[in-house]
Amino acid sequence: MVVRELKDWYPQYNKPLLISGPCSVETEEQLRNSVLPIIDKVDFVRGGIWKPRTRPGNFEGHGERALQWVQALRKETPFKFAMEVATPEHVELAHQYEVDLVWIGARTTVNPFNVAELAESFKGSELPVFIKNPIHAELSLWKGALERFSKAGVSKLGAIHRGFHSYQKNKYRNVPMWQIPLDLKSEFPELPLLCDPSHIAGDRGLVAEIAQRALDLNYDGLMIESHCKPDAAWSDAAQQIATANLPDLINGLLLRDDVF
Ligand code: PEP
Ligand code: MN
Repeated sequence: MVVRELKDWYPQYNKPLLISGPCSVETEEQLRNSVLPIIDKVDFVRGGIWKPRTRPGNFEGHGERALQWVQALRKETPFKFAMEVATPEHVELAHQYEVDLVWIGARTTVNPFNVAELAESFKGSELPVFIKNPIHAELSLWKGALERFSKAGVSKLGAIHRGFHSYQKNKYRNVPMWQIPLDLKSEFPELPLLCDPSHIAGDRGLVAEIAQRALDLNYDGLMIESHCKPDAAWSDAAQQIATANLPDLINGLLLRDDVF
């Protein structure tokens, strides 16, 4: 697999790469209030457009309507936007709405059929793609998804560590099992590796310490969920940082380069 360093395709890269924004785009007002205060502090704003809920009956995202809100807000104040894609239709809309970066969610990475079909839909695209680890602790599925995208010609490729489901009660929503992403990174040292402390934590009080651990381990960046009113969020309420607290969280992190 041919991998490229982040600075090779994202020249503005200033470690750590920061992606933040709400778990889901809920309303036009929530989008505006969650995004405008952070655009100077992050590289990419995240926002869930389609939400892969484990069980039915929860908010599943507004789809294209939410992308129209994003487009309208970007006309007013430009920012780079990142979202999850899970089907070739999502990929088509990502191109149509000029989304800047997409990621493949943990529930998609587990399925080689989905991954192969999705990877095909990126043929000829210049879009950066980050692959979250699969829900369960299997490094080969994660590598396999990265390889399928690489084979399809996606060269702006990276990985996101979001922890692993465990049926056992644990401090974390998804146990980090740091050795798995570190094994991935040791096989592909150039592969950009981000940490998603929000989905590991499941609790906003744990986000900073997990983010710090990732930086101590020399990760290239972080994806942190933030929301203007996190307690009222329509998804992942417990783990989202208040937008107003994001600068302090970021400023409190120490960069350490000397681990690897
Ligand atoms: C998300 O980023 O909001 C999300 C659904 O993540 P994951 O695929 O890691 O569960
Ligand atoms: Mn989420």
